[in-house]
Amino acid sequence: MSQAVSPILRECHRLRRHLRDLQSEIDLGPRVLKIQQKALADADAAHAEHHASIKRWKLKQKDDEGGLKTTETRLLKVQTDLNGATSKKEFDAKNIEIATATARKGELEDAILNALGEVEERTAAVPAVESQWAAAQATFQAQRVEAAERLARLLADQAESVETLAVTEAKIPPEHRNQYNRIVKSYGPDGLAPVHGRTCMNCKTSLTEQQKTSLSGGAFVCCPQCGRALYLQE
Ligand SMILES: [Zn+2]
Repeated sequence: MSQAVSPILRECHRLRRHLRDLQSEIDLGPRVLKIQQKALADADAAHAEHHASIKRWKLKQKDDEGGLKTTETRLLKVQTDLNGATSKKEFDAKNIEIATATARKGELEDAILNALGEVEERTAAVPAVESQWAAAQATFQAQRVEAAERLARLLADQAESVETLAVTEAKIPPEHRNQYNRIVKSYGPDGLAPVHGRTCMNCKTSLTEQQKTSLSGGAFVCCPQCGRALYLQE
């Protein structure tokens, strides 16, 4: 008489579920990596944008300084021309031009002050921005190391579990092995189910007294309702 089937199937069930969990965890790796890569790319972009914004403000300041110089030169010329105006019409036109240029001068002066303030503020923030960027890179590196260690651990566990499963399944009585193989092929890890009392824990159907007796006697019994290979719950 071959040995009782229950403890063998219980172990097969545990290992097959464990292998399924391991595979899910392994499959999670690339998705986690994508999220972490996105976080790094965002940090990279924020860092680059900070420096780019300083350049843009400096450029704007330079442009406005050029504009101011042109406006001031024009203003001086119009003010000089004003004295030589030969008609009221010309005089009024010059005055309008002076008012416009003066307003423009004020706008440009404000814009330059604003740009200077922006450059100053953003330049002062550079050390903090740099350390944020360095921290994001360090975090990503640490995550890569951690992920590699985790994957190695999962793969080792997987290899060991596959081996243990093969050894355990070899203990299933040969006359039931084809049936067992068909069941796990159809249902995967959930092709096996514990029996609690007389109840199949997969479909909650009660076994007959005869079926329970066979199972307790060490036989290979399948649930008449859901077809799972049954074992006694510890
Ligand atoms: Zn069942």
